[in-house]
Amino acid sequence: MDIEENIIKLRRSLPKDVTLVAVSKTKPIEDIEIAYKTGQRDFGENKVQELIDKEKSLEKDIRWHFIGSLQTNKVKYLVGKVHLIHSLSSIKLLNKIESEFSKKNCTANLLIQINIGKEESKSGIFEEELNDLINEIEICNNCKVKGLMAIIPKGNENTNRYYFKKMKNIYDDLSKKSYKNISMEILSMGMTNDYEIAIEEGSNLIRVGEGIFGKRNVVGGLKNG
Ligand SMILES: *Cc1c(COP(=O)(O)O)cnc(C)c1O
Repeated sequence: MDIEENIIKLRRSLPKDVTLVAVSKTKPIEDIEIAYKTGQRDFGENKVQELIDKEKSLEKDIRWHFIGSLQTNKVKYLVGKVHLIHSLSSIKLLNKIESEFSKKNCTANLLIQINIGKEESKSGIFEEELNDLINEIEICNNCKVKGLMAIIPKGNENTNRYYFKKMKNIYDDLSKKSYKNISMEILSMGMTNDYEIAIEEGSNLIRVGEGIFGKRNVVGGLKNG
């Protein structure tokens, strides 16, 4: 598996306005360094401990994206280390992020994760719960929501498109409104197997792991935080 070739080829194929987050979960520091040398600066991790360990041993200009489900008791470790948390999924988590980031006078940049397929196995809020969450976001001082994230249900090209379109509609709806602390800049959707469709349907940030670093031989859960 040639990481350098994979990532250069992938980045070249992307439209200019699409950000590539290289998902390095379970992969060693050396693999990240190879990608870094090609100019890659955005990396994604789904476990807090792993993100902090890697952050400590690597260059400081890496933008770390937290993409896993986040337990409230681990929020404090991310303060000052993380560029963007993709997995804001409850009011309880929002309140914890607000309190931990404000303690250190830091701003948390967040995406609201939407459980667009209403799958029990996935985290994220339902579309119907958005308004309640938004009300809480508006009264925060240290939280800024920059957009939305989704992990869509497994399926075929047609179902993928269906869920990506649904996300784009929600994103466009929110873009038209004006809320305190909320701006729609990032629509994070698309992974190794479906990022091309995601981009066609309006994604401007894709999260690609295996397509860059090769297969993960550990159980690389989507949920573990
Ligand atoms: C692991 C993971 C990815 C990357 O998946 P690949 O299929 O390896 O591209 C993207 N997003 C999330 C939330 C993940 O946990």
